[in-house]
Amino acid sequence: MAAPGLRLGAERLFEMPAVLERLSRSNSTSQAFAEVLRLPKQQLRKLLYPLQEVERFLAPDGRQDLHLRIFDPSPEDIARADNVFMATERNRIDYVSSAVRIDHAPDLPRPEVCFIGRSNVGKSSLIKALFSLAPEVEVRVSKKPGHTKKMNFFKVGKHFTVVDMPGYGYKAPEDFVDMVETYLKERRNLKRTFLLVDSVVGIQKTDNIAIEMCEEFALPYVIVLTKIDKCSKGHLLKQVLQIQKFVNRKTQGCFPQLFPVSAVTFSGIHLLRCFIASVTGNLD
Ligand code: GDP
Repeated sequence: MAAPGLRLGAERLFEMPAVLERLSRSNSTSQAFAEVLRLPKQQLRKLLYPLQEVERFLAPDGRQDLHLRIFDPSPEDIARADNVFMATERNRIDYVSSAVRIDHAPDLPRPEVCFIGRSNVGKSSLIKALFSLAPEVEVRVSKKPGHTKKMNFFKVGKHFTVVDMPGYGYKAPEDFVDMVETYLKERRNLKRTFLLVDSVVGIQKTDNIAIEMCEEFALPYVIVLTKIDKCSKGHLLKQVLQIQKFVNRKTQGCFPQLFPVSAVTFSGIHLLRCFIASVTGNLD
């Protein structure tokens, strides 16, 4: 995280446009992110902090159980995390290899994060969005459900590895048990599992199987709500409240704060990059 004197929560920062202006002019801020910082305040908040944007439409008593700011980085932290995801000569971001079995997985010593979810939940699109600052990295995006049959490993410089796991729920139970379960149980350097849930339909039966697996192996995991651009504000609010209640009451290992994202509008993508950089020890 940024030095304590510099660190401002999202709310205070929005009240201090001069700080945003200074950050957008800083040499350490990428040009792409500097342009983001110049967006009108409301658009910027929606892009960077979609859950806090949802909060504005809640009655005060509806906020009690919602965990909106456990992870509340300043735009300075978010800018630093974007640099971690920015491909340069010195920060190579590449596809490494694929594996169908854990003993074929590359032996990569760095911290690892993985993405799991039902086929068609938007996993490839999300990974592509996270890697948009490294456009040469090829992440396949399917039209048909169930295309990702392998674990795909991507290295992000010397920082960490991202693993795209096969989708479950559609012709994939065997893949799922053989690959995903074994991977989750045995991968020693796995720092966080990102479990994707489609915000349009909410938690489905097959999602529950994945959640139970994470709980059983006592893994730290995070629920990411995908495709939020497809939801009306009201529907998104309803899903957020329902899923938050589920997380609060039924889970132990799940990070209490939800991460809504859209791979189309990029809402929530910067925040998720920042969270990944943080859990892999790259913002310390
Ligand atoms: P995967 O099977 O989980 O890898 O899912 P994909 O990333 O291939 O996405 C499945 C479908 O959902 C594709 O048609 C994507 O274009 C669409 N999709 C993925 N993410 C989003 C999103 O954030 N918003 C919208 N509107 N569509 C999305």
